[in-house]
Amino acid sequence: MSEFREAVIDLGAVAANVVHLRAAIGTPHFMAVVKANAYGHGAAPIARTALAAGADWLGVADLTEAHALRDAGIEAPLLAWLHGPDTDFAPAIAADIDLGISSARQLSTVADAAGRLGRVAHVHLKLDTGLSRNGLNGPDWAEVFALAAGFERDGLVHVRGIFSHLSNASPVADDEAVARFTTGLNLAAAAGLTPELAHLASTAAALRLPAARFSMVRIGIGLYGLSPFDDASPRELGLAPAMTLRASVAAVRRVPAGAGVSYDYLWRAPEDGNLALVPLGYADGVPRSASGSARVNINGRGYPIVGRIAMDQFVVSVGQDRVDVGDEVVLFGDPDVRGGRVGAGAERGRLGGCRRHDQLRDRHPDRAPRAAQLPGGPQREQGARAMNRRVIPDAAAMHSWGVRVAAGLRSGDLLVLTGPLGAGKTTFTRGLGVGLGVRGAVTSPTFVLARTHPSLVGGPPLVHVDAYRLQGAMELDDLDIDFEHSVVVVEWGRGLLDGVAESWLDIEIERPTGALQTGPAGAAGSARASAAPGLDLDVDLDEPRTVTITGFGPRWAGFESAWLGE
Ligand SMILES: *Cc1c(COP(=O)(O)O)cnc(C)c1O
Repeated sequence: MSEFREAVIDLGAVAANVVHLRAAIGTPHFMAVVKANAYGHGAAPIARTALAAGADWLGVADLTEAHALRDAGIEAPLLAWLHGPDTDFAPAIAADIDLGISSARQLSTVADAAGRLGRVAHVHLKLDTGLSRNGLNGPDWAEVFALAAGFERDGLVHVRGIFSHLSNASPVADDEAVARFTTGLNLAAAAGLTPELAHLASTAAALRLPAARFSMVRIGIGLYGLSPFDDASPRELGLAPAMTLRASVAAVRRVPAGAGVSYDYLWRAPEDGNLALVPLGYADGVPRSASGSARVNINGRGYPIVGRIAMDQFVVSVGQDRVDVGDEVVLFGDPDVRGGRVGAGAERGRLGGCRRHDQLRDRHPDRAPRAAQLPGGPQREQGARAMNRRVIPDAAAMHSWGVRVAAGLRSGDLLVLTGPLGAGKTTFTRGLGVGLGVRGAVTSPTFVLARTHPSLVGGPPLVHVDAYRLQGAMELDDLDIDFEHSVVVVEWGRGLLDGVAESWLDIEIERPTGALQTGPAGAAGSARASAAPGLDLDVDLDEPRTVTITGFGPRWAGFESAWLGE
């Protein structure tokens, strides 16, 4: 039986959170922080929603994320603040991305790139006011401000903002940071800088430390409807959680008193009773620390998770209640859970730990689980139907998943594959070829734009397209592919399909780590460009991949995650 699990994102909740927070905080400017794939909620749809609801800035950590937003057609003011030592800033300056600057060296590199481009780079100088992570060191402020003022006079740089980040360690520490930040602003003014924006507060300080608000706040966790405080729930803050993680019961069984459950028998049934198996595990973001203490809702009632949470499943004790296979299990989305940010969720006895996990995700952006798009709020992203995310452990599994997906495809279906080199796109497509029963080895289509593999079993041919060198939808159209009578797989095809196709399935494969990551310049193409053409890196599928599937258009309107094969 197919298992059902999904994360559902309520964009209406995000919009309502923005409206509420804007009104409550009252700064002239409001930055929606959408780093780490919008904390796992989907960067582009969240960004669009937040902007439509009144945010006027977007913030991300690195330039890869920033370029992805620009590539998605989002033109709003956008700041990226975390850069590797060898970052080439030219593409970011050309894409009108504001740059957070944490050192004199970075500032000079940016000015240099701006000079070569003949454009002005917009920067926000980041002051270290006590967090000691990154940012300009207090003793260097005056010197860097003078340097920046010089670059401004030369027309290379414009200092649009000055900012810092709080530790939230204690009210005293935060007050000190506010004072230090104010000193920095005064020094900057003395150096002749006239930044339009001063920003210090993220969600917690924006809500509770009015002195930290300045002209803009940077709101992350609050946008998603979670509480940054241990002593206040989202509901108490007027926020609505945007993500619901749910699944259906995959199996039920009755056990006698004393039966051990899951690995290591951490839990034994105190009496005869019913257990329900839920097909979600730590690979899906359910923290292992929630083993034996967290609760989930089944059919609207709360029950404890018992025993150890495994990679892909956990067990719930429902006592004497009757639960059936297929009943709905809801893991998060509870507006009464406090402390989204700090503290272990486990001892709170709720899935607060999942929120903590959200925070962990933002230090591992490549692992950020994808969010879903099912129920329609008014703000739902245009045309996106459904989403499903899964973890594929290795190359063999990627191949056989391709075989299974093929079973659900028919003539006219179009798939868009996105993912860095070595992500497993070709391995997946090879599986598709096997599943469709087509002739010819499916290889990376690097040297040709499109390769057609005819069917050996009277089915549709598989057309494998490499869109990397295509300039746009027109050129894809020019390839004269018989979309209607084929199954078409387009690698690097994101953004090319509008106007060409009515429906498509977007499949994104992410690798958690690995040497062949997207370059700092961000565009997926930069990783691509630096690798030898024709090299089939898919053979190196040595770490789990996270795959996210989204259906666009009428073909996938009734799209069921179950279809994707298990
Ligand atoms: C993540 C981040 C934020 C948002 O923080 P929240 O606590 O989620 O609101 C703001 N500013 C910077 C620099 C960040 O890295």
